Amino acid sequence: MENHFLIIGQGLAGSLLAYDMYKAGLQFTIVSDTENRQESDIVTRMYNTDVFERLAKTWLVDEVLQVMTNLYKNIEKDLGQQFLYPMDIVNVQNENEINVWDERIFDGDFSNFIDTTNKNWVKRGIDNLSLFDRTEKSGYVNLSKLLNGLKNFFKANGNLVEANFHYKDIGFINGDITWRGTTSKTIVFCEGHYASRNPYFKDVPFTPTKGELIEIECEELAEDYIVNKDMFVIPIGKHRFKVGTTQRFTDAGEEYTKNTLDDLLSRLDEVISMPYTVLNYWSGIRSTVSDDRPVLGVHPYNQNIAIFNGLGSKGVMLAPYFAREMVYSLVNKNYILSKEVDIRRFLS
Ligand SMILES: Cc1cc2nc3c(=O)[nH]c(=O)nc-3n(C[C@H](O)[C@H](O)[C@H](O)COP(=O)(O)OP(=O)(O)OC[C@H]3O[C@@H](n4cnc5c(N)ncnc54)[C@H](O)[C@@H]3O)c2cc1C
Repeated sequence: MENHFLIIGQGLAGSLLAYDMYKAGLQFTIVSDTENRQESDIVTRMYNTDVFERLAKTWLVDEVLQVMTNLYKNIEKDLGQQFLYPMDIVNVQNENEINVWDERIFDGDFSNFIDTTNKNWVKRGIDNLSLFDRTEKSGYVNLSKLLNGLKNFFKANGNLVEANFHYKDIGFINGDITWRGTTSKTIVFCEGHYASRNPYFKDVPFTPTKGELIEIECEELAEDYIVNKDMFVIPIGKHRFKVGTTQRFTDAGEEYTKNTLDDLLSRLDEVISMPYTVLNYWSGIRSTVSDDRPVLGVHPYNQNIAIFNGLGSKGVMLAPYFAREMVYSLVNKNYILSKEVDIRRFLS
């Protein structure tokens, strides 16, 4: 049997892994469940090069940003559609934060990403708050458009099966893994938060976190930057904005809660000073593990089984880089993954 891969889940992780495999000329089948689709599907995802609450750079940003941009641009070229929308972020800050910020502007490690404090630069809509900074090299990805585009692409190439995968349906025969007539060398689980019920990874401390998001319409709010203040306000065109997100550890379902909506709206009211209408709201569960790092690689006790998960709240930036790492480790058994992300940190 040639090196065929079976990928379970067509969220961000599974889709980018499959795309890298396609580019590398590998054989694969991706199983996409139409019923459960959740986390990746909520239209807009921001990528933000700095974590402003701590005024520090996002983990691995120097490594992941270039890979991220190249990958989404390549997919755009192959699919003939735009998915990546670069856009500066305006951060609303207090006096102390502004002081730290102003020092960082002269620090070579940060200066590529940030801009000087400039009140005049900020336009309509957030004028009841007075201090701002600006982050460059940020923006958002239209995730549902990307995943739909890739779904059609893989379907047209004969690489996608629409089905709900059940663990009991796989068999281990002569060093291969079988599922519904497909024979593969490796099954790669990219199930998002559903991984917490995966019997092969039951010792991985998945800690699902619920997130909620709303869409508003606001005629007068400026549309050429993202506003960041304990939440984001992303312009998506035609005076519409995505506002989010909340974060709560949960074993509850994915339904929306009124309290969180009220919390989000009151935070929004602190930031913008214009009348708006709420058009829509969503909730989803992030796939997070206890140390807040991705989890990937081949199972230490079963070479037929692998995982790519734990992208947490920064999936848009991390998934391209770690999809590539994942492919390297699958095709080269001697490739060493960073200990910070290797599945072995939980299972060895
Ligand atoms: C409200 C909210 C806001 C967020 N905001 C941001 C943001 O601004 N920026 C950012 O970078 N990240 C953000 N994230 C996180 C980001 O969405 C995730 O990191 C990313 O989508 C995770 O992708 P995934 O493929 O690992 O998981 P998922 O997107 O959950 O995909 C898993 C897929 O596997 C499928 N699946 C599971 N089990 C089966 C099965 N048995 N058979 C077939 N298919 C199966 C599911 O249907 C699903 O399609 C946010 C998350 C939420 C919930």
